Amino acid sequence: MRSPTDGWTTCALGHRHWGLAGAAGLLLHRAGAAGVEVLLQLRVEWSHHGGTWGTPGGALHPAETAADGALREAGEELGLRPADVVLGAESVDDHGGWSYTTVLATPAGALEPGDLALNEESIGVGWFALDELPEVPLHPGLAASLPALRPLLA
Ligand SMILES: [Zn+2]
Repeated sequence: MRSPTDGWTTCALGHRHWGLAGAAGLLLHRAGAAGVEVLLQLRVEWSHHGGTWGTPGGALHPAETAADGALREAGEELGLRPADVVLGAESVDDHGGWSYTTVLATPAGALEPGDLALNEESIGVGWFALDELPEVPLHPGLAASLPALRPLLA
């Protein structure tokens, strides 16, 4: 389903981004045996930055809040329902003319990859210890935001 905010734009830093009103993603985190874990999805190869692990998310719709957009995208891509999560802080990565808001959340109950229903944009999902992240190919947006996100995950 297309939205009037679908489309490519170029930010002040010279990147191409999808989403004329910016984008948002949901970063689920939990306390794991080896420290903080985050839930990441593997994007299908044909998608923008395909083959990398990142947060479920995408372009915001008109007049949509970052939290609503992140929850909508997580619902479409992973089958997560709003009641499955407890929303937390938001972190905005503002590139000038385009921004990405990461919405932090914790699972409302036990949440394992097998509980999720992935759509065609996602080919994998899993919990990763923060300390393992350098070993997986990360979406460049998430990689760039991690230093700002880490204190919020502690
Ligand atoms: Zn940018």
